[in-house]
Amino acid sequence: MIPYGRQNIIEEDINDVCETLRSDFLTQGPKVAEFEQAISGYCQAKHAVAVNSATSALHLACLALGVGVGDWVWTSPISFVASANCALYCNAKVDFVDVDADSGLMSVTALEEKLATAFAEGKLPKVIIPVHFSGQSCDMQAISITAKKYKVHVIEDACHALGADYLESKVGNCEYSDICVFSFHPVKMITTGEGGIALTNSITYYEKIMTLRSHGVSKSRQLPPWAYEQHHLGYNYRMSDIAATLGLSQLKRLGNFVTKRRHIATQYKEKLNNFRFKPILQSKQGESSFHLYPVLVTDSDTRKALYDYLHLNGIAAQVHYIPIYQQPYYKKMGCVPLPNSERCYERIISLPIFYDLTSDELNFVIQTLNDFGEA
Ligand SMILES: *Cc1c(COP(=O)(O)O)cnc(C)c1O
Repeated sequence: MIPYGRQNIIEEDINDVCETLRSDFLTQGPKVAEFEQAISGYCQAKHAVAVNSATSALHLACLALGVGVGDWVWTSPISFVASANCALYCNAKVDFVDVDADSGLMSVTALEEKLATAFAEGKLPKVIIPVHFSGQSCDMQAISITAKKYKVHVIEDACHALGADYLESKVGNCEYSDICVFSFHPVKMITTGEGGIALTNSITYYEKIMTLRSHGVSKSRQLPPWAYEQHHLGYNYRMSDIAATLGLSQLKRLGNFVTKRRHIATQYKEKLNNFRFKPILQSKQGESSFHLYPVLVTDSDTRKALYDYLHLNGIAAQVHYIPIYQQPYYKKMGCVPLPNSERCYERIISLPIFYDLTSDELNFVIQTLNDFGEA
């Protein structure tokens, strides 16, 4: 089976991790800070806190922005459940903003309308979490202007988008958001096994997230050298030095990973000639990292047929994502379907795209796709 995504691990990664295993620190050593500096430097953000998953980073980001009981948090339904769960961890309430049906990205028009209504009803959210679905940045400039108008905070769920560009800069510089989060799960752009990071230009948010990452405990120069104080209820969301070492080694190849994924995307765009599907819409404001390469078929029956056909031919295409509000847990909370998210979901399917996809495999996938539906 050719998967839709796969990690790339080489001897250098393994050697570097072994070196850390032989060192004095498996965790809370020098590698985590080194990794944080490397990622914040790459993205041109002021501060970074590495944690054990992007889910943890999203949770701490919400807490740093003061999300709590009674608050609303809005996100995109075309995402992994973690984008919404983070708000529930803070005892807040979740609602969803509809997407553009052809890109899967949060619709600025839908956001503006929903904010205007919420303002009139006195139910503005505390935070909105746009998701850079498939590796393409949302229109963050417009989202930021709209959010500022209503004094709403913005967290970018950029789990797909490490290495992507937006308006001549790297996604992650936090120019249009309070906090930006990346994931290092094996299917994402680079991996630490499990891991995530929160980037911010605010020293206040940085210090809050840093403290909450490790039990809410802090040390200060006023205290005796052995003492630490807990002022908040934090967590153990720390990243290990073993994981950070893998991340540092992987980061050296991020440029190659992005280049290869963009090359595969170009091949798909140029060589797929089956009128039964088309690639999702790509914006001209930037360039995707192509964590995913989703295409849109005409309707849900064709999507099912294409999924079965590809699996029969050894191609493990996948569907990203079932709208979060369709999950039984969210349905029970009264979340309702949104028209464009439905329209996006029923047609979408992700084709294989990853660094080690060979040109033979790629050509086979393209040929198989072009033959789909030709009796
Ligand atoms: C992978 C992913 C997450 C969660 O990341 P973890 O590191 O696995 O916790 C959150 N949001 C999106 C959009 C993702 O793709």
